Amino acid sequence: MSSNLRMLVLPFVLRLFSAPPAAGQEQPVPGFPPIPIDATEEQVRQGVALARAGQKLAPKAWPNGARVAVCLSFDVDNELLWRSAPLPVPLSQGEYGATTGLPRVLDLLDRQSIPASFYLPAMSAALHPQMIQDILQRKRHEIGVHGWMHENLPTVGDAAKEEELLTRSIEYLTKAMGKRPVGFRAPSWAFSQSTLDQIRKAGFLYDSSFMAMDEPYELLANGQNTGMIELPINWIADDYPYYEPEAGGSLPDPQLVFEVYKGEFDVAYQEHAMFILTMHPHITGHRSRIAALEKLIIYMKSKPGVWFATLEQVADYVKTQRERNREVEKQPGTER
Ligand SMILES: [Zn+2]
Repeated sequence: MSSNLRMLVLPFVLRLFSAPPAAGQEQPVPGFPPIPIDATEEQVRQGVALARAGQKLAPKAWPNGARVAVCLSFDVDNELLWRSAPLPVPLSQGEYGATTGLPRVLDLLDRQSIPASFYLPAMSAALHPQMIQDILQRKRHEIGVHGWMHENLPTVGDAAKEEELLTRSIEYLTKAMGKRPVGFRAPSWAFSQSTLDQIRKAGFLYDSSFMAMDEPYELLANGQNTGMIELPINWIADDYPYYEPEAGGSLPDPQLVFEVYKGEFDVAYQEHAMFILTMHPHITGHRSRIAALEKLIIYMKSKPGVWFATLEQVADYVKTQRERNREVEKQPGTER
């Protein structure tokens, strides 16, 4: 196929094969009754109310007057992506994330002296215990929760079971890290009816699974502020749709992916906003892709005022700013 034709066909192929979002849009999921065409306005509101965007929490300025916050994040799914059909060759594709992808990512972050956030399913960490040690040894990175077994939460189908897995995931990482994780990213970015309430009760500082804005925002559950900060992701700034054969066999030139990410960063920079990139060591950890990621990092570093941070650092900062603003609002006669 010519490269021009390939670029034309690619979006359609991606739509057909990008399993999680397309399936969620087109087929009913247990626990989520469809919103019928003759639903009342009130029923439509109720139908979308489970998790909504509240107030935008983009701060007026980032620390030290930085213009943009950049978060590199890596979901360390490895073998668990093939859990439902654990054939040896696909499993080895995931194993690559631990043997080669993650070490290469960590070396890159060392070379560039920047932090990153890593989301580890507990059983992915159990298969390769060295991964947590290698990440923590850098003393710059964050580790957050990404399920027990990379379970798809809407299909667990049992709130108590789901909560038990969440508790075990938190306990596993807490023990391995000597510190309780503060960030949650749902496996496959999929929430059940119970997930939001369960992570709120578990006391997470932030979630990073929703897509309602480009900036940090308040996460609402049925109209109530959960108190958690959402640090949103999206499919454009994710390596999976571009590189994974299961996502359409696209495998484009890493330079094209670099251009997409650069375009996202450039506008975030213009908007004084935030740029979160989601990657996977077993996907981006390959040679040509790491080279493209390094090129992106070098490009971003060439701009003045770029704050490379973990999601935890961003959430902490946003939370502090929000509390400060509330204090100011409380003072009589203060205009904002
Ligand atoms: Zn994942």
